[in-house]
Amino acid sequence: MFLTSNMGSDVRVIVLGISQDGGFPQAGCNLDCCEIVKNNPQLTKHSVSLGIVGSDGTKHLIEATRDLAWQLNLLNSVKSDEFLLSSLWITHAHHGHIDGLGLFGKEVMNYDKLNVNCSESLSKLIKNTPNWNLLVESKNIIVNPFIGSKIYSPSPNCGFKIKPIKIPHRAELSDMHAFLIIGPNKNLLFLPDHDTWKSTLKFVEKNTIRDWFYSEKIDFALIDGTFWSSDELIGRNQTNVPHPTVSETLKLIGKKKTGDPIIKFTHLNHTNPLHNNSSDEFLEVKKMGWNIAEEGEIFKI
Ligand SMILES: [Zn+2]
Ligand SMILES: [Zn+2]
Ligand SMILES: [Zn+2]
Repeated sequence: MFLTSNMGSDVRVIVLGISQDGGFPQAGCNLDCCEIVKNNPQLTKHSVSLGIVGSDGTKHLIEATRDLAWQLNLLNSVKSDEFLLSSLWITHAHHGHIDGLGLFGKEVMNYDKLNVNCSESLSKLIKNTPNWNLLVESKNIIVNPFIGSKIYSPSPNCGFKIKPIKIPHRAELSDMHAFLIIGPNKNLLFLPDHDTWKSTLKFVEKNTIRDWFYSEKIDFALIDGTFWSSDELIGRNQTNVPHPTVSETLKLIGKKKTGDPIIKFTHLNHTNPLHNNSSDEFLEVKKMGWNIAEEGEIFKI
């Protein structure tokens, strides 16, 4: 399909990655989950990320992953006449969400003053980390910390806004913000990581997931699907990697009802059976009316 820039005032959000920070396959994993990818490299998935093409054709990126080469190619396949990014947004400092930041520096893309938007605590971490601070000093990036609960226009005529929403998530390095992407017609929530629904809902002062999604007028929600169940953490101390499991989330939301937003799970750990689209778990999600995000899929907002 050939998409041109005169497609009206659509804002498009492109899924550029659906795997948890470690990627799929994950380094050091010799279990069946990752072995299968060795013989089927097309099953590879990339660290979680979104691209946005504004109504004026500007391009914006959420998360700076090590898979940027592949991800920017995918973004450029959606719109190929402008290669430079107008803005970058980062949710938090955990490895897979920021480990590609250095690719904007001299050794690779040598960007000129890319606007990087993140929380105050993440901006401090960037400035206190010598190899990232070098990007600031060389003016490859300009870091703009969030101020209060402001809603941002990523560039003057891009046709969409971004509302950062602070979310409780283990914060050894920085705090965490989900992003609500507010389009001219629809809104999309990107919530790749959080600790528990209880703490998140308490923080946003809502009683249920539906209350929250309806109050923000969310049409599409790409949410934390890291683990299907806590069985995937055998051999790891579960308290060190808290995420609500997909089974818990399904229990809380039940089946899709008329008027509900489209909810898709993303940020899948390599052990998650949802990577396999013929697994019972995958079919269970679909049967309840929900879905799993797919790399390359486009949401018109
Ligand atoms: Zn993560
Ligand atoms: Zn694995
Ligand atoms: Zn995280």
